[in-house]
Amino acid sequence: MKVLVAEDDPTIRQLIVMFLSRRGIACTAVDNGRRAVEEWEGSDYDIILMDLQMPVMDGLNATHLIREKETGRGGHTMIIALTAYAMAADRQKCLEAGMDDYLSKPIDFDRLLFLVHHPSPNSPPT
Ligand SMILES: [Mg+2]
Repeated sequence: MKVLVAEDDPTIRQLIVMFLSRRGIACTAVDNGRRAVEEWEGSDYDIILMDLQMPVMDGLNATHLIREKETGRGGHTMIIALTAYAMAADRQKCLEAGMDDYLSKPIDFDRLLFLVHHPSPNSPPT
């Protein structure tokens, strides 16, 4: 199990990395969408936790790019959006962009752990 954390807020990023690392889940962290795409291309991740609002490239664009590249090379990396917006319209935007699920901030760490251990691509929002 390998998780890529793409989050520009250093506090949230550290919290997630600490939380997952302590549970024996390997993670790498980046602070923008472009780095997320580059990191994804160079390694083999099971799950990407993707913040929506990041500098350089946001989470929706990074997800679009990854999904586009996947159509060429195959495979499907589970992408979970990290969003401050719990509005239905934003959830829809995440799913339309090709994300599989989302976590709203402040992050529910129990749900994060559940999603990491029970990855289900395009599972309906709860
Ligand atoms: Mg952000």
